[in-house]
Amino acid sequence: MVIIMLGAPGTGKGTIAKILSENLNIPQVSTGDIFRKHIKEGTELGKIAESYISKGQLVADDVTIGLVNSRLDEKDVQNGIILDGFPRTVKQAEALDEMLAKRNKKVDMVINLTTPEEEIIERIVNRRICSNPDCKTVYNIILNPPKKEGICDVCGHELIQRKDDNVETVKKRLQNYFMQTSPLVEYYEKQGTLKTEEVSKSINRLGGDVAKDILENLKR
Ligand code: AMP
Repeated sequence: MVIIMLGAPGTGKGTIAKILSENLNIPQVSTGDIFRKHIKEGTELGKIAESYISKGQLVADDVTIGLVNSRLDEKDVQNGIILDGFPRTVKQAEALDEMLAKRNKKVDMVINLTTPEEEIIERIVNRRICSNPDCKTVYNIILNPPKKEGICDVCGHELIQRKDDNVETVKKRLQNYFMQTSPLVEYYEKQGTLKTEEVSKSINRLGGDVAKDILENLKR
């Protein structure tokens, strides 16, 4: 099963993908996480990625598509994959359709998350993430704080704030989302795979609630 998490930054893609991944037993593949790992390790790809990410821009399509193309050949994703943050442009979506078709696969479900913009900014600025790459639990220091400040409840590692989680960069990321990524809503609507879910405290529906409903629907 191929599931895509679509939505502006801070709508809860990673949180929902993590719950789905644990329950469906298929890997969550976040292109953002892969880029951050390369940046941390100082690889050539990391240097290229950082030059875009630090400015709130999308990494070039050919770089990102190449990365996903090789990830699709790895053994752990042969029974399914949850793509968290890919595709983000129409070119990437078209390339993904081709890459999957070559492997006799297709996109099965696209979960499109929507959240009011002011809530997104508040959520991203207050976001903290577990630094343990095998955990990556996401907290919000206001809505969902850890029991002990700065420490992950699940694994005890330190919580970190992403460098690009600041107001200035988030505004650029949101602009880019509307210009480059939001056309994918129509792209997948036409394919009949789109499922739109609102994630907002104003309707008392957060990522965990959405994930629970998706899992229940899949069981039916
Ligand atoms: P994320 O962790 O998904 O918020 O991604 C962090 C950053 O990595 C984004 O703001 C982009 O700069 C870059 N990135 C992640 N996924 C993609 C993608 N599919 N295409 C281009 N850039 C990406």
